[in-house]
Amino acid sequence: MVIVMQEGASEAQIQHVIDRLVAHGFNVHRSTGESHTVLGAVGVHRDFDHRDFELLDGVREVMRITQPFKLASRQFRPEGTIVDLGHGVKIGGPEVVVAAGPCSVESREQIFCVAECVAKAGAKILRGGAFKPRTSPYAFQGMGEPGLKLMREAADQFRLSTVSEVMDPSQIQMMLPYVDMFQVGARNMQNYYLLRALGEIRKPVLLKRGLSATMEELLLSAEYILSGGNYNVVLCERGIRTFETYTRNTFDLAAIPVIKKLSHLPIIGDPSHATGRRDKVPPMARAAVAAGADGLIIEVHNDPDRALSDGAQSLEPSTFTQLMAELRIIAPAIGRRVA
Ligand code: PEP
Ligand code: MN
Repeated sequence: MVIVMQEGASEAQIQHVIDRLVAHGFNVHRSTGESHTVLGAVGVHRDFDHRDFELLDGVREVMRITQPFKLASRQFRPEGTIVDLGHGVKIGGPEVVVAAGPCSVESREQIFCVAECVAKAGAKILRGGAFKPRTSPYAFQGMGEPGLKLMREAADQFRLSTVSEVMDPSQIQMMLPYVDMFQVGARNMQNYYLLRALGEIRKPVLLKRGLSATMEELLLSAEYILSGGNYNVVLCERGIRTFETYTRNTFDLAAIPVIKKLSHLPIIGDPSHATGRRDKVPPMARAAVAAGADGLIIEVHNDPDRALSDGAQSLEPSTFTQLMAELRIIAPAIGRRVA
C-alpha cells in the first residue's frame, strides 16, 4: 500500500500516519518527493480497512499496489529515482550516463590505458571486474583486491567513478573504498543473501537481469535491496537467453520502456553481454539510448584480441569514441544528453 500525503502535510500528520501503519504491523518506507511525501507500507497483510487511512489528517490518497513488488513500483516514486554516485554522476536524470571499461581488470597498463581513453570519449564511470563469475572454473577468475586498487587509482586519475561486481556478502566491506557502485551480475540476480546484504548499505547497486529472469523477477530482486532501505538501485538489461544462438544473448530492448513504466528505478543497457559480438555493440547501444535507457555499460579493451575475458565483445577504444559521438546526436532527439 502506498499513502500519498497532501502537499504541505505537517510532520506531525506524517508521523501519525507512520505510527498507525507500524501499529498495524507494516514496515514503513518514506519517500520525500518534490511536492509530496509518499509512505510505502510493506509487510504481511493484516486485517485492516484502508479507508481508515484515507480519513487521517494530511492524507491525500491511499493506493493499493497489486503488483508483487511494492517499493520498486512506479507508484512509490512517480517522479522517478535519480541514483547519485557522487562527483556529479547521476543516473536517471536528463543525462545518459555511460560506464565503460574492460570486462576484467588485468594489469596496471591495461586499466590506465582504457580509463584514459573512455574518460576522453565522455564515459563517466569505469567498469572492470575483479571477481569474475566465469561459466568455467578454469577460466580467468579476476585479480581480486589488487585489481580493485588499480581500478580505483586509474579512475581517480581520470576523474571517473567506478563499478565492479560483488559476488559474495563477505566482499562488501573490503570493496567499499574502491567502488562507487556495486554490480550484481546476471548469475547472482537471485542470490538473496547478497541482495539483502546490499540492502544494508547505502552505496548504489547495479542489478543486472538474470539470464532467464522475467522483468517481474528482476523487480522483485530489486525489492530485496530496497526493502533494506537502500533505494540506490540501477537496473540493467543485459540480454536474456532465448532459442536464438547467433548472438550470445537476445537484447530485450522492450524491457527498457516496460520497466520505466512499472518502476521508478533507472535502467541502463549492456549491449556487450547482450550481443557478445563487437560489431553488434554500437547499433544496439544506439538503439538502447533511443529506447530511453538512462545509461549504458560497455566493454572496451585496449587490445581486445588478447583480453583475458570477453574480448570478442569488447570495443577498440577508437570504436568507442566514435559510438559516443553518435550517441550525442541521438540523445537530444528524445530530450536527453550525453557528455
Ligand atoms: C560482466 O559485466 O562482465 C558480467 C559478467 O556481466 P553479466 O553478469 O551480465 O554476465
Ligand atoms: Mn564481461
